[in-house]
Amino acid sequence: MASATDARYGQKESSDQNFDYMFKILIIGNSSVGKTSFLFRYADDSFTPAFVSTVGIDFKVKTIYRNDKRIKLQIWDTAGQERYRTITTAYYRGAMGFILMYDITNEESFNAVQDWSTQIKTYSWDNAQVLLVGNKCDMEDERVVSSERGRQLAEHLGFEFFEASAKDNINVKQTFERLVDIICEKMSESLDAADPAVTGAKQGPQLTDQQAPPHQDCAC
Ligand code: GDP
Ligand code: MG
Repeated sequence: MASATDARYGQKESSDQNFDYMFKILIIGNSSVGKTSFLFRYADDSFTPAFVSTVGIDFKVKTIYRNDKRIKLQIWDTAGQERYRTITTAYYRGAMGFILMYDITNEESFNAVQDWSTQIKTYSWDNAQVLLVGNKCDMEDERVVSSERGRQLAEHLGFEFFEASAKDNINVKQTFERLVDIICEKMSESLDAADPAVTGAKQGPQLTDQQAPPHQDCAC
């Protein structure tokens, strides 16, 4: 697990500097919906049934190939701050994509989606892309939120929607890959429209705290 400091100074990642783009992605949603499990499933292909304390976890890094580009994902987990349903604004800074997660067996987590969406809209970059994910779809017997309600809410908020299971590895990879694809699509659109929000040099290995993701020449 890399720490924020390591990434900022490019220390731990020195053997992995060869990428075309780097996207910062955040996983948000109520406590215990499965965010940490989802990240571990994707980054390490592991699942721990016990509650995994998120304290001290910053992010994981995974590099994937999409559209002939090597894309380094820096995926942030919320380190328990989600219990207060507000997360420091610094956490949102520079994020290009969000996975907004609820638990299909937990009505309260679904009801909180609107609040989380407002947080994203308030604190993140305007062009940030969001996927709504109903996690724990392996627990059909305990389902309280129908797929249809999830889909309708996503449509209302303007997000794409997946149901997934970190436990059974359903739609985890697909969620991240779709998010990467829509970030790329948005970047291309912005560049076509000469959106001044997307300017600057191609992202190098050092992370910065700047608000607008600095990619100029995405062709993906
Ligand atoms: P977080 O607080 O959102 O990070 O949630 P965790 O990842 O810590 O998960 C909370 C609990 O839900 C843990 O006991 C996990 O094992 C369990 N969990 C997470 N994802 C799934 C899933 O897809 N299916 C099932 N059945 N349990 C899950
Ligand atoms: Mg967690």
